[in-house]
Amino acid sequence: MAKAFGTEFVPEMIITRFEGNQWSQPEFVSSDSLALHPGSHVLHYASTCFEGLKAFRHPDGSVKIFRMDQNVKRFEQSSRLLALPQVDEAMLSQMIVDVVARFKDLTPEPPGSMYIRPTHIGTEAAIGKAAAPSGESMVYVLLTPVGDYFSADTTLRLLLDDEGMRCAPDNGMIKTGGNYASALKHIIRAKAEYQADQVLFCSIGGVTETGAANFILFDGDEVLTKALDDSFLHGVTRDSVLTLAREYGFTVTERDLTAEEVVDRATHPDCEAALSGTAAILAPIGTMIFKDQEYTVGSGKVGPKVSKLKKALNDIQFGLTEDNHGWMTEA
Ligand SMILES: *Cc1c(COP(=O)(O)O)cnc(C)c1O
Repeated sequence: MAKAFGTEFVPEMIITRFEGNQWSQPEFVSSDSLALHPGSHVLHYASTCFEGLKAFRHPDGSVKIFRMDQNVKRFEQSSRLLALPQVDEAMLSQMIVDVVARFKDLTPEPPGSMYIRPTHIGTEAAIGKAAAPSGESMVYVLLTPVGDYFSADTTLRLLLDDEGMRCAPDNGMIKTGGNYASALKHIIRAKAEYQADQVLFCSIGGVTETGAANFILFDGDEVLTKALDDSFLHGVTRDSVLTLAREYGFTVTERDLTAEEVVDRATHPDCEAALSGTAAILAPIGTMIFKDQEYTVGSGKVGPKVSKLKKALNDIQFGLTEDNHGWMTEA
């Protein structure tokens, strides 16, 4: 239970291989290791993408997966934009349901959940293919039982960085390994120099997102976040929170935001800000740092709007309220 997020895996994963222009019948194999040729395309040219979604234990004993269709669609899109073999969405959906059902008993009780990690890697042993796609690949789905990501009353210190870039500006909407590696140097520097927990990248076109989460500002009755474009990852949590915010009567504004506007609004007394993503749903921000100046966000503590929207989403996920949106799929 004390293990770090995503370090404990269920004993098996489900895998399919793309060889000879077709996908093999998915099968369960040990999740301990994977045999790869050292010349595999992914190891040299980063032909890889992944997804992150969760399954939740409900009071009636069932286990249900949150918005699987959205993650499967995004996985297909990432694979396509990286020129990996075309993903069979129906097959992947069935693989996810099958592996979650097989390890249903290992799904933690609330507030824990089963984190699901579909992964696609280019496996062709072809070092000459630096400028050509991998003709072979593997898709596998790993499962890791997880607890609550952040303790309930912690707020984050966020550095607004207007120089560093998370990734190439037209690669942001792809959930691909290289984007996280390229962001690390900025995150490490922000930790060392500003004791920041996360970096909000704002160099081109204003505020984008952090290393692995979207950014949402709550000011008065308005919920503000960047409009969808190629430069950042289109979070399923972002979309879900905006949907619930509209239903609660907030005005949702999707447009470009500058770092200056964000820190200016952040100090309004009832302002709140949070990072959204599957792991933490909404992680509240207490302090922003921009151009060596510190700003307390609202009260500096976890605010009522973030708490309310997080609870609303959690209640749907854990089956404590009606799923009016058709977001849950039984495994
Ligand atoms: C996964 C991810 C998110 C959050 O997406 P969700 O679908 O809400 O989990 C945001 N930004 C980046 C860079 C991500 O990798």
